[in-house]
Amino acid sequence: MQTLSDAQRSFFETSVSTYQQDLAGDTSAQAYLTSRGISPQVAATYRLGVVRRPLAGHEARTGRLVIPYLTPAGPVNFSFRCLKNHDCKTEGCPKYLPIDGMERNLYNVAALKADSPFLCIAEGELDALTLSMCGLPAVGIPGVKHWKKWWTRCLDDFDVIYAFGDGDEAGGKMANFLAREVKARPINMPRGADVNDVYREQGAEGLRALID
Ligand SMILES: [Zn+2]
Repeated sequence: MQTLSDAQRSFFETSVSTYQQDLAGDTSAQAYLTSRGISPQVAATYRLGVVRRPLAGHEARTGRLVIPYLTPAGPVNFSFRCLKNHDCKTEGCPKYLPIDGMERNLYNVAALKADSPFLCIAEGELDALTLSMCGLPAVGIPGVKHWKKWWTRCLDDFDVIYAFGDGDEAGGKMANFLAREVKARPINMPRGADVNDVYREQGAEGLRALID
């Protein structure tokens, strides 16, 4: 695992604070979060932001949603999500951009310490955030191809792990991978839907019903 220097940690903290302030003044980014069912309180808890005043090295991330990877020792990584009103795939636009040169981390490691008999795994940060805000503690992974072997050990203590892949072929592959790797139980997602879709259509109850 990579360790961060004090200077990096301090730079990450400054970045998160700055982009949180940028979000406070950005009604279009706020509207995006509202459209995903993410309240200002939840955005504050997860310290979401938007890049309006890019810090050094983040210039090419301007306009993107900032999703920090928070740990008890502060933010250790970020993901920058496109907020443009377009289909990123057809535009050839990377929907998520990591920090250049950084290894990928598990998102929302706080869920590993949650007082819960089970843990959920989602693909992508916002789906993990959505589950967690609904009382279903979840970590996010950046996709099967970025899986790190040591994550398996982080998840050893949980008797029950639920894999929330999207309701498509890639989501099914992820759930099968997690079934092998961490003995996760694949959740049967509605066709074509992701966690956030289910939440917006059916609320927290709809997500809970999927694991019952
Ligand atoms: Zn895009």
